Amino acid sequence: MEIFKKIYKTYTEVVFPPTCVCCGSSTNSDENSICSLCRGKRFESAGLARKEILPQSAAFIYTMWFFDKGGYLQDLLHKLKYHFMRGVGIELGYLLGKDFLHQQSTEELKYIDDLNPVIIPVPLHVKKRRKRGYNQARALAEGVSRSTGWTIIKKGAIKRVRKTKTQTGLTLEERSKNLKGAFQVKEPKLVLNRKCVVVDDVFTTGATTFELAKTLYEVNEVSSGILTVARA
Ligand SMILES: [Zn+2]
Repeated sequence: MEIFKKIYKTYTEVVFPPTCVCCGSSTNSDENSICSLCRGKRFESAGLARKEILPQSAAFIYTMWFFDKGGYLQDLLHKLKYHFMRGVGIELGYLLGKDFLHQQSTEELKYIDDLNPVIIPVPLHVKKRRKRGYNQARALAEGVSRSTGWTIIKKGAIKRVRKTKTQTGLTLEERSKNLKGAFQVKEPKLVLNRKCVVVDDVFTTGATTFELAKTLYEVNEVSSGILTVARA
């Protein structure tokens, strides 16, 4: 059986050489969907956001790359959201976690490592999740967990209880109003005395991640860290 698998794999690689899901160029290893250029140098590193923009409920925001409007990254994140690409999400999350561990100053790392960290993917409303087939933030969270060793919160422990209008074109104030009360912690004991790390794909104005951090803060009185793949 193994030999057939091997022949099939070689055949498909010759006929359909593996290509990068992001830029479309051929990849040298079928283990990664994202080529080494896209993983490494194609996008501008973002790092920590300015502390001045942080509300009390957020300890820091760390982002892997700057958003490239109209570019490869925007396209990739769109596909991740709507094309059910769980594997790619895990891969990106893995890179994000690794990037945070390698590039981060000890201050933020220490903050997280202090108190049994737990990863919180931004929840989708159940209707939206059913429509899309999955929550891309949970796939990212799985990847972050693999590279950092932190645990992920149990499914359903935090819910998006209110359907919200699309955020596009709204100001930060309008977005915050739109999201007010959108999340609910269903199992408070899972976040008590723990540092939460909120994971999402894109950080735009922060309305979504800040509302989630605020909801968590109301339960555990601990500021959360925020990790995102891209920042606008
Ligand atoms: Zn690429």
